Amino acid sequence: MKTGQRETIAEHLKKSGVSRRSFLQLCSTLIVAAPVGLSLTGKATAAQVARIVGKARRPSVIWLHFQDCTGCTETLLRTSAPDVAHLILDVISLDYHETLMAASGTQAEAALRSAIEDNAGKYILVVEGSIPTRDDGVYMELGGKPAIQVIKEVAAQAAAVVAIGSCASWGGVPSADPNPTGAVGVDSVISGKPIINLPGCPPNPYNLLAVVLEYVTMGRLPELDQFSRPIFAYQRVIHENCPRRAHFDAGRFAAEFGDEGHRMGYACTSWAARVQ
Ligand code: SF4
Repeated sequence: MKTGQRETIAEHLKKSGVSRRSFLQLCSTLIVAAPVGLSLTGKATAAQVARIVGKARRPSVIWLHFQDCTGCTETLLRTSAPDVAHLILDVISLDYHETLMAASGTQAEAALRSAIEDNAGKYILVVEGSIPTRDDGVYMELGGKPAIQVIKEVAAQAAAVVAIGSCASWGGVPSADPNPTGAVGVDSVISGKPIINLPGCPPNPYNLLAVVLEYVTMGRLPELDQFSRPIFAYQRVIHENCPRRAHFDAGRFAAEFGDEGHRMGYACTSWAARVQ
């Protein structure tokens, strides 16, 4: 279905029997996940976010799998609160997703074609997994076409491309040495489109939801860092909040398990080697 003919998110939630309370909880979580760096959640209350999101038409999302373990999809479907997964799938319109759809073979190929045609220039393409490039991409085919050809064709008509997970962002596990398939991230094979990297193995599904909703409600994508990651989600590292951080700053480290530094709760030396 074309985006302009779709019901709004509020209309769809009502039809699906989702309570306003559940929707407000989702919006609150969105504010917590992206407290700064988004026009949608900046200085807003959950009720304000719900009002803005509710008026938007459900965004079309096409989700393609390449060299992946499906863990990025699993993280969306198997959140600690199962209702959240249903809510996310009520808010976005997942028009093509090979793991979730019933169709296969020629029916699946037809579904992909119609998802592209119905929302050309408007859909968000979500890519899970790395892209094999060695030997003309023979190591993975979809519908008889090399994966690299498929991603180029689908990305050509997308409004933006989201690389979900470390595999899609920069090759991840499949690109580990000796990288027999020549696995790379999305931005090595696609150009001329906004590309947003959401690395993590698996990544946080709320970051995907925040990116998509920022686009459909505000008509813009979030500000990105030098690795094309949204600043709202990747500006800070866990290291900054580590309870051993004071020892790290003071140069007090444990050299090995069970030594005096370990017993004193000092910072880990391998961490120090990576950060310094
Ligand atoms: Fe699996 Fe991790 Fe790659 Fe996602 S990023 S497909 S969870 S290996």
